[in-house]
Amino acid sequence: MDLTIEDKNLIYNSIRDVKDFPKKGIVFKDITTLLNNAEALQTLMNHLEEKYKSYNLDFIAGIDSRGFIFGSALADRLKIGFVPVRKKGKLPSTTVCEKYELEYGYDEVEIHIDAFLKKDARVLLIDDLIATGGTANAAAKLIKDVGANLVEICFVMNLTFLDGVKKISEHAPVYAVLDIE
Ligand code: AMP
Repeated sequence: MDLTIEDKNLIYNSIRDVKDFPKKGIVFKDITTLLNNAEALQTLMNHLEEKYKSYNLDFIAGIDSRGFIFGSALADRLKIGFVPVRKKGKLPSTTVCEKYELEYGYDEVEIHIDAFLKKDARVLLIDDLIATGGTANAAAKLIKDVGANLVEICFVMNLTFLDGVKKISEHAPVYAVLDIE
């Protein structure tokens, strides 16, 4: 079920642009104003539930930290489990780790090696936003490294001008609720 233009506008208009955060020149897409808008949040979650209920998923994996919010809400709706992909050093048990490049320097994400309980589990990866695609690329690699079947990668927003989807499309189909130009 596709979203109507009105529904897309409702979600889009609920997201606040914060200029020069976390540094000069960045327009930060603030989803706290989507989360506190019950109508916009329901519209988004109804859409994601409707779209993914036929995918026969076993788990939702969410990227630290805003992917946790949408990912666990969706997992609950689909009555399946949730798996966090966390920034390095936060997960307590045995992990696998993937390093990726930032504009200046590197970052690392991790996943528990036994997170998906069985081989070939059907997994949807979710985050709030794709910019360059570096974070999602590292998260997708981790999911595959631990033996899961990455079925699709989903974002609330895609900053299309940064072409991040190109970096991750080898892993799985990519879906974004809102393309932002
Ligand atoms: P990237 O690895 O460049 O695709 O960056 C994606 C990650 O950084 C996601 O987890 C986003 O939440 C965050 N991010 C990057 N750019 C923005 C932005 N302009 N507004 C909000 N979050 C952003």
